[in-house]
Amino acid sequence: MFAPGFNQNDWGSANGQYIIKEGYLCRMGEKEVWPWGRWVWNRLNLPKHSFICWLSMYQRLLKKARLYHMGINQDDRCPICGTQEETIQHLFFECAFSKQCLHGVLNWMRCRLIKGKRCREIIIAILATLLYCISKARDNVVWDLKIPTTAYMLSLIKQECRLRKRTYLSSKTRVKERDWIEKLLQS
Ligand SMILES: [Zn+2]
Repeated sequence: MFAPGFNQNDWGSANGQYIIKEGYLCRMGEKEVWPWGRWVWNRLNLPKHSFICWLSMYQRLLKKARLYHMGINQDDRCPICGTQEETIQHLFFECAFSKQCLHGVLNWMRCRLIKGKRCREIIIAILATLLYCISKARDNVVWDLKIPTTAYMLSLIKQECRLRKRTYLSSKTRVKERDWIEKLLQS
């Protein structure tokens, strides 16, 4: 059983030679574009942070708007701001509270952004931590009716990141990146 490319000679090189890699890619077919993949599979994420990213990506977090449309909940308002329908898009990206938290995190990292794979992974891990903390804060609002301050959220995120310092700093981390990580976690 061959993919169509085997008959159409799509898998070969320009001079008609068979290339294993091309044959394999042809057999694999079209790749699905997965914009959240980097967030979910980032190796510096804690599994619980990746899990929230994964659920969000598949729209599987049971937020009020979804429960409302399923006929389970009578109220679809965001429990934090109370002004909009609570969708995943709203909770993580559009809610004034989440925007303030993101602003705080970006301010914390500002002036310390440098190039490098390790730094990029850490930035994604920090943003995944932010998503997780927003999700937890939202649940606390529902159950305890207490909205945390942005300062508290930022301190929580910093604390989570500081606990992971040893994971962030591997023996292969470049000196420049190591400096960046240490300054960031001390600030
Ligand atoms: Zn909101």
